[in-house]
Amino acid sequence: MPPSDVFDIVIVGAGPAGLMAAIAAGRRGSRVLVCERQKRSGKKLLASGGGRCNVTNALGDRTFASRFGEKSSYVFAALRKFGIEAICNFFESIRVPLKANDGIHFFPESNKAASVVEALVQACRDCGVVLRTGCDVTSIQIKDGRVCGIIHSGGIISTYACVLACGGKSYPKLSGCERGYELASQVGHNIVEPVPGLVGLITKETWPGSCAGISVKNAHIRIKENCSGKRSLTQKGGLLFTHHGISGPAVLNISSAVSRMLLNRPEVRLYCVMQEDLDAGAWNKRFLEWQKESGRKTVSNCLKPFLPARLADALINETGCDKEVLACNLSRANRLRLVQILTEGVELTITKSEGWDHAMVTSGGVLIREIEKGTQASLLIKGLYIAGEMIDCSGPCGGFNITWALSSGFCAGSAAACEIPAC
Ligand SMILES: Cc1cc2nc3c(=O)[nH]c(=O)nc-3n(C[C@H](O)[C@H](O)[C@H](O)COP(=O)(O)OP(=O)(O)OC[C@H]3O[C@@H](n4cnc5c(N)ncnc54)[C@H](O)[C@@H]3O)c2cc1C
Repeated sequence: MPPSDVFDIVIVGAGPAGLMAAIAAGRRGSRVLVCERQKRSGKKLLASGGGRCNVTNALGDRTFASRFGEKSSYVFAALRKFGIEAICNFFESIRVPLKANDGIHFFPESNKAASVVEALVQACRDCGVVLRTGCDVTSIQIKDGRVCGIIHSGGIISTYACVLACGGKSYPKLSGCERGYELASQVGHNIVEPVPGLVGLITKETWPGSCAGISVKNAHIRIKENCSGKRSLTQKGGLLFTHHGISGPAVLNISSAVSRMLLNRPEVRLYCVMQEDLDAGAWNKRFLEWQKESGRKTVSNCLKPFLPARLADALINETGCDKEVLACNLSRANRLRLVQILTEGVELTITKSEGWDHAMVTSGGVLIREIEKGTQASLLIKGLYIAGEMIDCSGPCGGFNITWALSSGFCAGSAAACEIPAC
């Protein structure tokens, strides 16, 4: 076998997790090869944040990790080695300073995701990492319970360690695929069924379409019971009506849970409160005042200071009233129903998500119980490491997923480098 086909570490995937793993290992003196099946590195990263790349955020490691719910301690273990401050310093050191105009979300100062990808690739080259694009890894070779090589579209490579950083299934146009799950399950890892995450939701009701384009700043979305039927899930934030349903940050952030529930049932009911400022008593008082003082005004007009007109009309319709109903003609039953919709939420029936083509992240993937906290080492196969989105660990929108990819990639690359005999 020619010497070029022997590497200390082979990294599968040149997204943020794989490139960061390569830099961490390369800087520790390992001979590293990155195999990327696409023609170029970091395709998803290039499109991230609307082409601007929301790399991380200013929440602080502890709060940041808490947004991963039951996986927070797992994420925190990686952040302790390569956390938000370290990520910002790292990008500064490779001449891509980050800035947070809103004080929270960090983007490159250039506002160009391409500058992030180019700098990561250059940092790889600077420490001698070999990057092969168009190189599809098809299997991992194992001998006596440890990695000894990989097979790719062009041949076999001998190696001491392998980092799987293949990403998830989301956005196939931008390199999303199931290859990582196939490779991990070939060597015995269990995969939590992947479902689309950070994705818009399709409603059975057609009225949201009549509000398409309207966004509500502080919506409150609630699912009465989660997958295990135990407690209610809630999200607060922006909601955007689309032609076939709902989207916006609050919806995206609850979408993984909804997608998972839809695996076992045909529909999921959500309750959306559009305006949380007033409680039922205050709304009732207002409606009674409007009936007395502005009786010839339509209810829709009365609601104008609180809700966009088309949305107010749709909610009035939901009570069974005509949207032109005058305040003085609103029956007690309809008033109470409208107040209930305004305070407890309008019910929406979700039948599916917008699907893999639009999902920004994959929820599900390699079972985290089988990967060591803080090193990303496989607990099943020696010399195997797994990082980034291909693990059953995903966060909300706002820089969480790229940070997780970078942080877990760093841990995997550093730990893999320490396995190499000369290290
Ligand atoms: C439109 C969009 C916008 C986003 N915006 C943001 C954002 O602003 N902030 C944020 O935090 N997150 C964002 N995300 C999510 C974020 O981009 C991903 O979570 C992140 O890229 C995951 O990194 P990764 O390295 O794990 O996987 P990926 O970036 O998916 O990289 C994996 C790589 O592995 C390669 N690969 C797979 N299998 C093989 C194989 N067998 N052989 C060789 N190569 C292989 C793939 O081709 C791919 O290039 C966005 C996602 C999308 C789709």
